[in-house]
Amino acid sequence: MVKDIATPNRTKEILQKHGFTFKKSLGQNFLIDTNILNRIVDHAELTPETGAIEIGPGIGALTEQIAKRAKKVVAFEIDQRLLPILKETMEPYPHVNVIHQDVLKADVHDVISKEFEGISDLMVVANLPYYVTTPILMKLLEEKIPVRGMVVMLQKEVADRIAAKPGTKEYGSLSIAIQYYTEAETVMIVPKTVFNPQPNVDSAVIRLIRRSEPAVHVVDEDFFFKVVRASFGQRRKTILNNLTNNLPKGKENKQQIEQALSAASVDPKRRGETLSIKEFGLLSDELLKSMR
Ligand code: SAM
Repeated sequence: MVKDIATPNRTKEILQKHGFTFKKSLGQNFLIDTNILNRIVDHAELTPETGAIEIGPGIGALTEQIAKRAKKVVAFEIDQRLLPILKETMEPYPHVNVIHQDVLKADVHDVISKEFEGISDLMVVANLPYYVTTPILMKLLEEKIPVRGMVVMLQKEVADRIAAKPGTKEYGSLSIAIQYYTEAETVMIVPKTVFNPQPNVDSAVIRLIRRSEPAVHVVDEDFFFKVVRASFGQRRKTILNNLTNNLPKGKENKQQIEQALSAASVDPKRRGETLSIKEFGLLSDELLKSMR
């Protein structure tokens, strides 16, 4: 019987044996609570046919629990010092493949086609490095990585923004960027005490289930996201002010912006944070027509 990696004693033993010291700059906060790990993996609903992608395996605490349930695990780790450790800790799990790479630079499509041949159900499961949470999520979503979804640990404050609903103070361009591609839900709040070393911020686990179609159909996706970002430019300003100030050539096109708001039935005095994704979709299509 193999001892779990994620206990305070075994983790300490592994770190000491290899003389490993944490790099704060790489967001290295390792999980030392098997119970929490199991609950994270539960939310991913892995089956013996699932292929799992992990980002940042560390010494393999989460990797091990995923490996017990999935058909295959591919884990991207940036820190070379962890490779010999993972080689040892993952020895009982030959279906785990660690790739030494910055996930932000990886060709994930290529890795998937090589590593998961014949596997159709894919999930991302990770305790993300907090300094790059948003770039990692956006890369995977924008590149349309063919996964069923993602269950990831991140800063609670970011989780709140990702899962926020219109009309709340957390709702913003990040909520829309993520909810455009997925159904987002916070599934766990996690105390600092389950990490070594403990992070400075509170943590949460979110589950993102990929939509089969985006939340709204728009003529031009890039322009849609430009409109969304422009609308949240200054939160206290009205949508009309934000669009005229922040859209390219907005000031020259104030009249056209007013027309588009009217055509999309959006009161120009409303604030960006009150608009649903569908309203933003309609508005961006109208703006595209009127500003052309
Ligand atoms: N999964 C382990 C656990 O839960 O105990 C470690 C999680 S730790 C929060 C984040 C991990 O991501 C570290 O192992 C770190 O070295 C790695 N990492 C940081 N930046 C990365 C990047 N750009 N690409 C891949 N891995 C990265």
